[in-house]
Amino acid sequence: MKNIAIVCSGGDVSGMNPAIKHFVEYALKNSLTPYFVYDGYEGLIDNKIKKASYCDVASIINKGGTKIGSSRSKRFMQKEYRALAKQNLDAVGIDMLIVLGGDGSFRGMDIFYKEHGIKFCGIPSTIDNDIAGTSYCLGVDTSLNVIKNAIDAIRDTASSFKRAFVIETMGRECGYLALVSALTSGAELCLIPEMSYDLQAYEESFKKQIEEGREYFLAIVAEGIKEDSHSIAEWFEKSIGIESRVSVLGYIQRGGNPTVYDRLMAYKFISRAIDGLLDNRDESVICFNDGGFSYKSIHEVAEQKYTLDKALLNHLKDIRDV
Ligand code: ADP
Repeated sequence: MKNIAIVCSGGDVSGMNPAIKHFVEYALKNSLTPYFVYDGYEGLIDNKIKKASYCDVASIINKGGTKIGSSRSKRFMQKEYRALAKQNLDAVGIDMLIVLGGDGSFRGMDIFYKEHGIKFCGIPSTIDNDIAGTSYCLGVDTSLNVIKNAIDAIRDTASSFKRAFVIETMGRECGYLALVSALTSGAELCLIPEMSYDLQAYEESFKKQIEEGREYFLAIVAEGIKEDSHSIAEWFEKSIGIESRVSVLGYIQRGGNPTVYDRLMAYKFISRAIDGLLDNRDESVICFNDGGFSYKSIHEVAEQKYTLDKALLNHLKDIRDV
């Protein structure tokens, strides 16, 4: 039997556990022996590589995070530690890896493949949805649902207390989470790094809305915008004349019960990753666009800059023109 391993690298997302579960099932179905690499690339270096069975993946499909752990590894950036990782994989006879991670993890694996010939297939996994070449990354749907629930809860207090709430979402330089959340939660204001804005332009409209009976505002802002969320709240108080509060959602956005969509995507990504490796695709990333999957090169994914979907941006413009 041939061996195959799975490793999670970089930030964890909800959807990794369903992927790990299906990895074991689909590997066994294809007469492969599944292995887990615990704790990301650190585990490759420290030889935390263990054979996996059905029992290891019982009761994990509904859990966020990753049962096998993840990490960022400075050591993996160094040649001598990558050589150690290769020795560890050789010792158990593994030459195929599935990597759940972001573009940084794929770049690291690309170097590892070129040095040591360990084949790999990357599955884009980040709540930021900021990987070039794919319109969807594992974990995004769960994150959006966590944010939706948080906004719905905040709306309760915003409307009761007649306040403006500035709700900050994650996403680094990418405004995807903020944009989709604002559209689907009916927020009055959405600020993202991909679009310049001038708060003054909203003043007249927001004041008029208050005169007409609006009692609260929801503003969704991405963490990557230039201004601090507190200064947006200050603007609501000083320029619009409404009491305001800030709620930074933070790490709750990374966790939680994986949604049906993420469970299904995990399933599809894993099947294709294993199929691809068995089909001699030695170095690829699986991408999802326009309802279909494709295998892309590292160059197409990790060396390109992600850009936000234009159609989504246009929807934001629709809100702004109100
Ligand atoms: P993400 O995969 O979420 O983009 P990072 O950029 O932090 O996260 O990368 C995750 C890990 O991938 C790093 O901690 C490192 O171990 C590995 N990695 C990233 N870039 C390289 C590189 N150029 N060489 C070797 N390893 C790398």
